[in-house]
Amino acid sequence: MLATVIHAARDIRVETVPDPELSTGGDAIVRVVAACVCGSDLWPYRGVTPTEEPHRIGHEFVGVVEAVGDDVSLIEVGDFVIAPFYVCDNTCVNCRNGVSTSCLNGGWWGSDDRLGGFADAGQGERVRVPLADGTLVPVRQEVTDEMVPGLLTLSDVMGTGHHAAVSAGVQAGESVVVVGDGAVGLCAVIAAKRLGATTIIAMSRHRDRQELARAFGATHIVADRGDEGVLAVKQLTGGIGADRVLECVGTKESMDQAIRSTRPGGMVGYVGVPNGGPELPVRPLFNRNVGVNGGVAPVRGYIEELLPDVLSGAIEPGRVFDLTLPLAEAAEAYAAMDERRAVKVMLRP
Ligand SMILES: [Zn+2]
Repeated sequence: MLATVIHAARDIRVETVPDPELSTGGDAIVRVVAACVCGSDLWPYRGVTPTEEPHRIGHEFVGVVEAVGDDVSLIEVGDFVIAPFYVCDNTCVNCRNGVSTSCLNGGWWGSDDRLGGFADAGQGERVRVPLADGTLVPVRQEVTDEMVPGLLTLSDVMGTGHHAAVSAGVQAGESVVVVGDGAVGLCAVIAAKRLGATTIIAMSRHRDRQELARAFGATHIVADRGDEGVLAVKQLTGGIGADRVLECVGTKESMDQAIRSTRPGGMVGYVGVPNGGPELPVRPLFNRNVGVNGGVAPVRGYIEELLPDVLSGAIEPGRVFDLTLPLAEAAEAYAAMDERRAVKVMLRP
């Protein structure tokens, strides 16, 4: 089969790799219907995280189940399934505590599972899914092509934006700032609106992303950063800062922006993968009773909650995809996102 392999920074190739095979009894083979490139895939692409040797890449996909092992009971051949960006059993104590990203039996796409089998990465034609009953969520209704982008966002970005809002404790009637206008930030706007926020301030400098943020529910746009950005937020929030701030970037600057935009007693929800060394200024947080909560989003646990709203069209996170390419053009997908020619690229095998 064909799958995407990263060889080095800016060297993405679609190559023939071994077909996946069932091996543990608890696994499934999924034919990928759509996959996508994540903002975090750009860190190895840019060489920020080094690529020591060529390896498979991609962790967001949806598809159709082609085969299941003898021990699989919740997933059936023919199911359309959503895969979260990691493998989990959905039953261990960490999963039950809502932190399935710390699953005691879990793992990551594009690497060996704990029983020695290989969990294929998502940017390919097929994936062997370990712990299929825990990892996959079936969509048990007819799935049309138009529904695919929205369902694919439940693999990562929509659940991650939701995690920012949940971690910050967004409640009806509150004011929310979203720092970051990538796909996760845009989905965080959707999540804030869905949870009832009435003032939603999107911090964005790009006109196309500003328009999408408004379509998703942003009531205000702030293009300024730093001191001017903080001032603009305060002017929109009675002079004190926002009740909740959703940090969706992961840099020192974005975390600083988030903390300083939060009102005394407010909360930052952070989901940006930390890069560039954000550190928490404990004394200023102490002085203003500002909390910081969040981390890698346990999206597996959010899929069932968000799925009905995606299926009904109540939320339209699939609109974050502004470019679709065949799998064979994965290298161009990375380049388009790296150069910010696209917000998020969908790959169709
Ligand atoms: Zn678990």
